[in-house]
Amino acid sequence: MLAMSTSNHQFGTRVVHAGWEPDEQTGAVMPPIYMTSTYVQDAPGKPRNGFEYSRTQNVTRFALQDALADLEGGAAGFTFTSGMAAIHTLLLTLKPGDRVVAGNDLYGGTFRLFSTIATRFGLLFDYIDASDTSAWQNLPSDTRLVYVETPSNPLLKLTPLQVAIDAAHRVGAEIAVDNTFATPYLQRPLQLGADYVIHSTTKYISGHSDVVGGALIIRDEARKEDMWFHQNSAGTVNSPFDAFLTLRGLRTLEVRMERHCHNAMAVAQFLEAHPKVAKTIYPGLASHPQHELATRQMHAFGGMVCFELPGGEQPARAFVSALKVFALAESLGGVESLVELPAPMTHASIPAATRRAIGIEDGLVRLSIGIEAADDLIADLQQALATL
Ligand SMILES: *Cc1c(COP(=O)(O)O)cnc(C)c1O
Repeated sequence: MLAMSTSNHQFGTRVVHAGWEPDEQTGAVMPPIYMTSTYVQDAPGKPRNGFEYSRTQNVTRFALQDALADLEGGAAGFTFTSGMAAIHTLLLTLKPGDRVVAGNDLYGGTFRLFSTIATRFGLLFDYIDASDTSAWQNLPSDTRLVYVETPSNPLLKLTPLQVAIDAAHRVGAEIAVDNTFATPYLQRPLQLGADYVIHSTTKYISGHSDVVGGALIIRDEARKEDMWFHQNSAGTVNSPFDAFLTLRGLRTLEVRMERHCHNAMAVAQFLEAHPKVAKTIYPGLASHPQHELATRQMHAFGGMVCFELPGGEQPARAFVSALKVFALAESLGGVESLVELPAPMTHASIPAATRRAIGIEDGLVRLSIGIEAADDLIADLQQALATL
Protein backbone atom coordinates (compact mmCIF):
# COMPACT_ATOMS: atom_id res chain seq x y z
CA MET A 1 0.00 0.00 0.00
CA LEU A 2 2.72 2.49 0.96
CA ALA A 3 5.90 1.41 -0.69
CA MET A 4 6.70 2.43 -4.21
CA SER A 5 8.36 -0.38 -6.05
CA THR A 6 11.97 0.66 -6.08
CA SER A 7 13.52 -2.74 -6.67
CA ASN A 8 14.75 -1.90 -10.19
CA HIS A 9 16.88 0.93 -8.88
CA GLN A 10 20.35 0.72 -7.43
CA PHE A 11 20.90 0.50 -3.68
CA GLY A 12 21.81 4.18 -3.33
CA THR A 13 18.45 5.19 -4.85
CA ARG A 14 16.41 2.63 -2.95
CA VAL A 15 17.93 3.56 0.39
CA VAL A 16 16.60 7.10 -0.08
CA HIS A 17 13.09 6.19 -1.27
CA ALA A 18 12.18 2.67 -0.10
CA GLY A 19 9.12 2.17 2.08
CA TRP A 20 7.36 5.48 1.47
CA GLU A 21 5.66 7.49 -1.25
CA PRO A 22 4.64 11.09 -0.66
CA ASP A 23 1.43 11.02 1.36
CA GLU A 24 -1.67 11.12 -0.92
CA GLN A 25 -3.59 13.59 1.20
CA THR A 26 -0.88 16.20 1.82
CA GLY A 27 2.10 15.23 -0.30
CA ALA A 28 4.25 14.93 2.85
CA VAL A 29 7.69 13.88 1.64
CA MET A 30 8.54 12.24 4.96
CA PRO A 31 6.18 9.88 6.80
CA PRO A 32 4.33 11.61 9.63
CA ILE A 33 4.88 10.18 13.11
CA TYR A 34 1.55 8.46 13.73
CA MET A 35 1.40 8.86 17.51
CA THR A 36 -1.91 7.12 17.99
CA SER A 37 -2.61 3.99 20.01
CA THR A 38 -5.95 3.22 18.38
CA TYR A 39 -8.06 3.92 15.25
CA VAL A 40 -11.76 4.72 14.90
CA GLN A 41 -13.94 1.99 13.37
CA ASP A 42 -16.88 2.67 11.03
CA ALA A 43 -18.91 -0.14 12.62
CA PRO A 44 -18.01 -2.84 15.18
CA GLY A 45 -15.29 -4.97 13.62
CA LYS A 46 -15.02 -2.64 10.60
CA PRO A 47 -11.69 -0.79 10.94
CA ARG A 48 -10.64 1.54 8.10
CA ASN A 49 -8.03 0.00 5.82
CA GLY A 50 -7.32 -2.64 8.45
CA PHE A 51 -5.97 -0.23 11.08
CA GLU A 52 -7.15 -1.31 14.55
CA TYR A 53 -4.44 -0.80 17.18
CA SER A 54 -0.87 0.52 16.95
CA ARG A 55 0.86 -2.57 18.34
CA THR A 56 -0.58 -4.37 15.31
CA GLN A 57 -0.61 -1.63 12.64
CA ASN A 58 1.23 1.69 12.54
CA VAL A 59 1.96 3.65 9.37
CA THR A 60 5.32 5.02 10.56
CA ARG A 61 6.53 1.57 11.59
CA PHE A 62 5.24 0.06 8.33
CA ALA A 63 7.29 2.61 6.35
CA LEU A 64 10.48 1.55 8.16
CA GLN A 65 9.63 -2.17 7.92
CA ASP A 66 8.94 -1.92 4.17
CA ALA A 67 12.15 0.04 3.60
CA LEU A 68 14.28 -2.56 5.37
CA ALA A 69 12.56 -5.43 3.55
CA ASP A 70 13.30 -3.72 0.23
CA LEU A 71 16.98 -3.06 1.05
CA GLU A 72 17.64 -6.61 2.28
CA GLY A 73 15.72 -8.10 -0.65
CA GLY A 74 13.22 -9.78 1.69
CA ALA A 75 9.50 -10.50 1.54
CA ALA A 76 8.67 -8.53 4.71
CA GLY A 77 10.31 -6.68 7.57
CA PHE A 78 9.43 -6.33 11.25
CA THR A 79 10.88 -3.79 13.65
CA PHE A 80 11.27 -3.96 17.40
CA THR A 81 12.19 -2.04 20.55
CA SER A 82 15.78 -3.28 20.30
CA GLY A 83 18.01 -5.76 18.52
CA MET A 84 17.55 -8.08 21.50
CA ALA A 85 13.75 -7.87 21.11
CA ALA A 86 14.10 -8.88 17.46
CA ILE A 87 16.23 -11.91 18.38
CA HIS A 88 13.92 -12.78 21.28
CA THR A 89 10.87 -12.67 19.01
CA LEU A 90 12.57 -14.98 16.53
CA LEU A 91 13.26 -17.47 19.37
CA LEU A 92 9.57 -17.32 20.34
CA THR A 93 8.76 -19.08 17.05
CA LEU A 94 10.61 -22.18 18.40
CA LYS A 95 9.41 -24.73 20.97
CA PRO A 96 11.00 -26.68 23.85
CA GLY A 97 13.47 -29.29 22.64
CA ASP A 98 14.30 -27.39 19.43
CA ARG A 99 18.04 -27.25 18.71
CA VAL A 100 19.80 -24.01 17.76
CA VAL A 101 23.34 -24.11 16.38
CA ALA A 102 25.07 -20.76 16.82
CA GLY A 103 28.44 -19.23 16.14
CA ASN A 104 30.68 -19.14 19.23
CA ASP A 105 31.64 -15.46 19.15
CA LEU A 106 28.26 -13.79 19.28
CA TYR A 107 27.36 -10.36 20.59
CA GLY A 108 27.49 -10.71 24.39
CA GLY A 109 23.80 -9.89 24.88
CA THR A 110 22.77 -12.52 22.34
CA PHE A 111 24.89 -15.13 24.14
CA ARG A 112 23.30 -14.07 27.46
CA LEU A 113 19.75 -14.39 26.05
CA PHE A 114 20.54 -17.83 24.64
CA SER A 115 22.43 -19.20 27.64
CA THR A 116 20.30 -17.89 30.51
CA ILE A 117 16.72 -17.26 29.37
CA ALA A 118 16.14 -19.35 26.25
CA THR A 119 17.62 -22.50 27.83
CA ARG A 120 15.10 -22.10 30.68
CA PHE A 121 12.34 -22.50 28.08
CA GLY A 122 13.84 -25.73 26.79
CA LEU A 123 15.76 -24.60 23.72
CA LEU A 124 19.04 -26.48 23.15
CA PHE A 125 22.16 -24.61 22.01
CA ASP A 126 25.32 -25.87 20.33
CA TYR A 127 28.15 -23.42 19.60
CA ILE A 128 30.56 -23.88 16.70
CA ASP A 129 33.39 -21.90 15.15
CA ALA A 130 31.26 -20.46 12.36
CA SER A 131 34.32 -19.19 10.48
CA ASP A 132 35.58 -22.77 10.01
CA THR A 133 34.18 -24.27 6.81
CA SER A 134 34.67 -27.82 8.09
CA ALA A 135 32.54 -27.10 11.20
CA TRP A 136 29.51 -26.85 8.89
CA GLN A 137 29.85 -30.36 7.53
CA ASN A 138 28.28 -32.17 10.52
CA LEU A 139 25.32 -30.18 11.78
CA PRO A 140 23.09 -32.25 14.09
CA SER A 141 20.21 -33.62 12.05
CA ASP A 142 17.65 -32.21 14.51
CA THR A 143 18.88 -28.61 14.12
CA ARG A 144 15.91 -26.27 13.78
CA LEU A 145 17.71 -22.90 13.60
CA VAL A 146 21.23 -21.82 12.74
CA TYR A 147 22.29 -18.43 14.07
CA VAL A 148 25.41 -16.54 12.90
CA GLU A 149 26.94 -13.05 12.90
CA THR A 150 29.29 -12.00 10.14
CA PRO A 151 31.59 -10.17 10.61
CA SER A 152 31.47 -11.21 14.25
CA ASN A 153 31.77 -9.03 17.31
CA PRO A 154 34.47 -8.20 18.34
CA LEU A 155 36.90 -10.49 16.47
CA LEU A 156 35.58 -9.67 12.98
CA LYS A 157 35.59 -13.31 11.90
CA LEU A 158 33.56 -14.10 8.81
CA THR A 159 31.07 -16.90 8.38
CA PRO A 160 31.27 -18.37 4.87
CA LEU A 161 27.61 -17.56 4.23
CA GLN A 162 26.89 -19.82 1.29
CA VAL A 163 28.48 -22.79 3.10
CA ALA A 164 26.45 -22.13 6.26
CA ILE A 165 23.18 -21.56 4.39
CA ASP A 166 23.56 -24.76 2.36
CA ALA A 167 24.52 -26.75 5.49
CA ALA A 168 21.47 -25.48 7.40
CA HIS A 169 19.09 -26.28 4.57
CA ARG A 170 20.62 -29.74 4.07
CA VAL A 171 19.41 -30.74 7.56
CA GLY A 172 16.07 -28.96 7.11
CA ALA A 173 16.96 -26.06 9.44
CA GLU A 174 16.36 -22.37 8.93
CA ILE A 175 19.23 -19.90 9.19
CA ALA A 176 19.30 -16.40 10.68
CA VAL A 177 22.15 -13.97 9.99
CA ASP A 178 22.80 -11.01 12.27
CA ASN A 179 23.73 -8.41 9.63
CA THR A 180 24.30 -5.55 12.10
CA PHE A 181 28.02 -5.09 11.38
CA ALA A 182 27.72 -5.38 7.61
CA THR A 183 24.36 -3.71 6.81
CA PRO A 184 22.61 -4.45 3.50
CA TYR A 185 25.07 -2.03 1.86
CA LEU A 186 27.87 -4.59 2.33
CA GLN A 187 26.02 -7.93 2.08
CA ARG A 188 22.48 -9.26 1.65
CA PRO A 189 22.26 -12.76 3.16
CA LEU A 190 18.60 -13.31 2.12
CA GLN A 191 19.67 -13.14 -1.51
CA LEU A 192 22.09 -16.01 -0.85
CA GLY A 193 19.19 -18.04 0.58
CA ALA A 194 19.27 -17.19 4.31
CA ASP A 195 15.82 -17.29 5.93
CA TYR A 196 16.14 -14.35 8.34
CA VAL A 197 18.25 -11.25 8.69
CA ILE A 198 18.54 -9.61 12.10
CA HIS A 199 19.62 -6.05 12.82
CA SER A 200 20.34 -4.02 15.84
CA THR A 201 19.09 -0.88 14.04
CA THR A 202 20.64 0.99 16.97
CA LYS A 203 23.91 0.73 15.05
CA TYR A 204 24.56 1.56 11.36
CA ILE A 205 20.92 1.43 10.20
CA SER A 206 19.88 4.45 12.29
CA GLY A 207 23.48 5.62 12.38
CA HIS A 208 23.32 8.58 14.78
CA SER A 209 23.49 6.97 18.24
CA ASP A 210 20.13 8.49 19.16
CA VAL A 211 17.73 5.52 19.11
CA VAL A 212 17.67 1.86 20.19
CA GLY A 213 15.86 -0.56 17.88
CA GLY A 214 15.91 -3.88 16.07
CA ALA A 215 14.68 -5.53 12.91
CA LEU A 216 13.93 -8.97 11.51
CA ILE A 217 13.58 -9.38 7.74
CA ILE A 218 12.25 -12.60 6.24
CA ARG A 219 12.93 -14.13 2.83
CA ASP A 220 9.78 -16.21 2.44
CA GLU A 221 6.43 -14.47 1.98
CA ALA A 222 4.73 -17.56 3.47
CA ARG A 223 6.30 -16.76 6.90
CA LYS A 224 4.87 -13.24 6.97
CA GLU A 225 1.57 -13.82 8.78
CA ASP A 226 3.19 -15.99 11.44
CA MET A 227 6.02 -13.52 12.13
CA TRP A 228 3.54 -10.64 12.34
CA PHE A 229 1.50 -12.77 14.77
CA HIS A 230 4.58 -13.24 16.97
CA GLN A 231 5.60 -9.56 16.84
CA ASN A 232 2.06 -8.52 17.75
CA SER A 233 1.49 -11.21 20.39
CA ALA A 234 4.84 -10.63 22.11
CA GLY A 235 4.32 -6.85 21.92
CA THR A 236 7.96 -6.22 21.04
CA VAL A 237 7.21 -3.42 18.55
CA ASN A 238 9.15 -0.16 18.41
CA SER A 239 7.37 3.18 18.89
CA PRO A 240 6.30 5.37 15.95
CA PHE A 241 8.79 8.01 17.07
CA ASP A 242 11.66 5.50 17.14
CA ALA A 243 10.57 4.18 13.73
CA PHE A 244 10.69 7.73 12.37
CA LEU A 245 14.18 8.40 13.75
CA THR A 246 15.45 5.09 12.41
CA LEU A 247 14.03 5.76 8.94
CA ARG A 248 15.49 9.28 8.98
CA GLY A 249 18.92 7.84 9.71
CA LEU A 250 18.54 5.01 7.20
CA ARG A 251 18.23 7.43 4.25
CA THR A 252 21.95 8.26 4.40
CA LEU A 253 23.14 4.67 4.93
CA GLU A 254 25.03 4.42 1.65
CA VAL A 255 27.01 7.67 1.98
CA ARG A 256 27.73 6.97 5.63
CA MET A 257 28.93 3.41 4.92
CA GLU A 258 31.20 4.58 2.09
CA ARG A 259 32.90 6.97 4.50
CA HIS A 260 32.98 4.49 7.41
CA CYS A 261 34.68 1.92 5.16
CA HIS A 262 37.14 4.41 3.72
CA ASN A 263 38.15 5.72 7.15
CA ALA A 264 38.36 2.24 8.66
CA MET A 265 40.76 1.06 5.95
CA ALA A 266 43.00 4.09 6.54
CA VAL A 267 42.97 3.51 10.31
CA ALA A 268 43.63 -0.24 9.94
CA GLN A 269 46.62 0.40 7.67
CA PHE A 270 48.00 2.96 10.13
CA LEU A 271 47.63 0.59 13.11
CA GLU A 272 49.11 -2.39 11.29
CA ALA A 273 52.26 -0.38 10.55
CA HIS A 274 52.60 0.97 14.11
CA PRO A 275 55.35 -0.67 16.20
CA LYS A 276 53.37 -0.51 19.48
CA VAL A 277 50.43 -2.47 18.05
CA ALA A 278 50.72 -6.26 18.43
CA LYS A 279 47.97 -7.23 15.99
CA THR A 280 45.39 -5.43 13.85
CA ILE A 281 42.13 -7.11 12.86
CA TYR A 282 40.26 -5.77 9.80
CA PRO A 283 38.75 -7.87 6.99
CA GLY A 284 40.11 -5.39 4.45
CA LEU A 285 43.74 -6.12 5.37
CA ALA A 286 45.56 -8.85 3.43
CA SER A 287 46.71 -10.15 6.84
CA HIS A 288 43.11 -11.01 7.87
CA PRO A 289 42.85 -14.82 7.66
CA GLN A 290 39.61 -14.51 5.67
CA HIS A 291 40.51 -11.54 3.50
CA GLU A 292 39.86 -13.48 0.33
CA LEU A 293 36.38 -14.53 1.56
CA ALA A 294 35.66 -10.94 2.60
CA THR A 295 36.51 -9.75 -0.90
CA ARG A 296 34.04 -12.22 -2.41
CA GLN A 297 31.27 -11.98 0.20
CA MET A 298 31.24 -8.27 1.05
CA HIS A 299 30.98 -5.18 -1.10
CA ALA A 300 33.56 -3.44 1.16
CA PHE A 301 34.98 -4.20 4.61
CA GLY A 302 32.96 -2.21 7.13
CA GLY A 303 33.66 0.39 9.79
CA MET A 304 34.89 -1.76 12.70
CA VAL A 305 38.59 -2.18 13.46
CA CYS A 306 40.10 -4.10 16.39
CA PHE A 307 43.67 -4.30 17.61
CA GLU A 308 45.69 -5.73 20.45
CA LEU A 309 48.11 -3.87 22.66
CA PRO A 310 50.76 -6.04 24.27
CA GLY A 311 50.70 -6.21 28.08
CA GLY A 312 46.99 -6.79 28.71
CA GLU A 313 44.33 -4.54 30.16
CA GLN A 314 46.46 -1.83 31.84
CA PRO A 315 48.05 -0.36 28.68
CA ALA A 316 44.67 -0.69 26.93
CA ARG A 317 43.04 1.34 29.72
CA ALA A 318 45.79 3.99 29.52
CA PHE A 319 45.40 4.17 25.74
CA VAL A 320 41.63 4.71 25.72
CA SER A 321 41.84 7.44 28.34
CA ALA A 322 44.47 9.31 26.26
CA LEU A 323 42.18 9.53 23.19
CA LYS A 324 40.51 12.88 22.52
CA VAL A 325 38.40 12.43 19.37
CA PHE A 326 37.27 8.85 20.05
CA ALA A 327 34.67 8.66 22.82
CA LEU A 328 34.91 5.80 25.31
CA ALA A 329 31.54 4.10 24.94
CA GLU A 330 29.84 0.82 24.10
CA SER A 331 27.77 0.51 20.92
CA LEU A 332 28.91 1.26 17.37
CA GLY A 333 27.81 2.38 13.95
CA GLY A 334 27.16 6.05 14.68
CA VAL A 335 28.66 8.97 12.79
CA GLU A 336 31.07 9.63 15.68
CA SER A 337 34.08 7.44 16.42
CA LEU A 338 33.91 5.28 19.55
CA VAL A 339 36.44 3.15 21.38
CA GLU A 340 35.85 0.36 23.90
CA LEU A 341 37.59 -2.58 25.55
CA PRO A 342 35.53 -5.75 24.96
CA ALA A 343 36.90 -7.68 27.99
CA PRO A 344 35.76 -5.28 30.76
CA MET A 345 32.90 -3.70 28.75
CA THR A 346 30.72 -5.23 25.97
CA HIS A 347 31.87 -8.82 26.55
CA ALA A 348 32.17 -8.75 30.34
CA SER A 349 29.12 -11.06 30.61
CA ILE A 350 31.16 -13.86 28.99
CA PRO A 351 33.26 -15.74 31.60
CA ALA A 352 36.96 -14.72 31.39
CA ALA A 353 38.16 -18.23 30.57
CA THR A 354 35.63 -18.57 27.70
CA ARG A 355 36.61 -15.12 26.46
CA ARG A 356 40.28 -16.04 26.25
CA ALA A 357 39.50 -19.43 24.73
CA ILE A 358 37.72 -17.75 21.80
CA GLY A 359 40.49 -15.17 21.39
CA ILE A 360 39.19 -12.04 23.13
CA GLU A 361 42.41 -10.92 24.86
CA ASP A 362 42.37 -8.47 27.78
CA GLY A 363 44.38 -5.97 25.70
CA LEU A 364 41.92 -6.04 22.79
CA VAL A 365 40.68 -2.59 21.72
CA ARG A 366 37.60 -2.19 19.52
CA LEU A 367 37.13 0.91 17.39
CA SER A 368 33.89 1.98 15.72
CA ILE A 369 35.26 4.28 13.04
CA GLY A 370 33.03 7.29 12.43
CA ILE A 371 32.71 9.63 9.48
CA GLU A 372 35.07 12.34 10.75
CA ALA A 373 38.17 13.28 8.71
CA ALA A 374 40.42 10.21 8.59
CA ASP A 375 43.56 12.28 9.24
CA ASP A 376 42.14 13.56 12.53
CA LEU A 377 41.27 10.04 13.65
CA ILE A 378 44.75 8.77 12.83
CA ALA A 379 46.41 11.73 14.57
CA ASP A 380 44.35 11.02 17.69
CA LEU A 381 45.36 7.34 17.70
CA GLN A 382 48.98 8.33 17.10
CA GLN A 383 49.14 10.73 20.03
CA ALA A 384 47.46 8.21 22.35
CA LEU A 385 49.88 5.45 21.31
CA ALA A 386 52.78 7.85 21.93
CA THR A 387 51.75 8.18 25.60
CA LEU A 388 52.31 4.44 26.20
C1 LIG B 1 24.08 -4.25 19.58
C2 LIG B 1 23.96 -5.58 18.94
C3 LIG B 1 22.86 -6.42 19.20
C4 LIG B 1 21.78 -6.05 20.21
O1 LIG B 1 21.05 -4.95 19.78
P1 LIG B 1 20.36 -3.88 20.78
O2 LIG B 1 19.76 -2.90 19.84
O3 LIG B 1 21.47 -3.31 21.62
O4 LIG B 1 19.36 -4.63 21.59
C5 LIG B 1 22.79 -7.62 18.52
N1 LIG B 1 23.74 -7.99 17.65
C6 LIG B 1 24.81 -7.22 17.39
C7 LIG B 1 25.82 -7.68 16.42
C8 LIG B 1 24.96 -5.99 18.02
O5 LIG B 1 26.03 -5.24 17.76
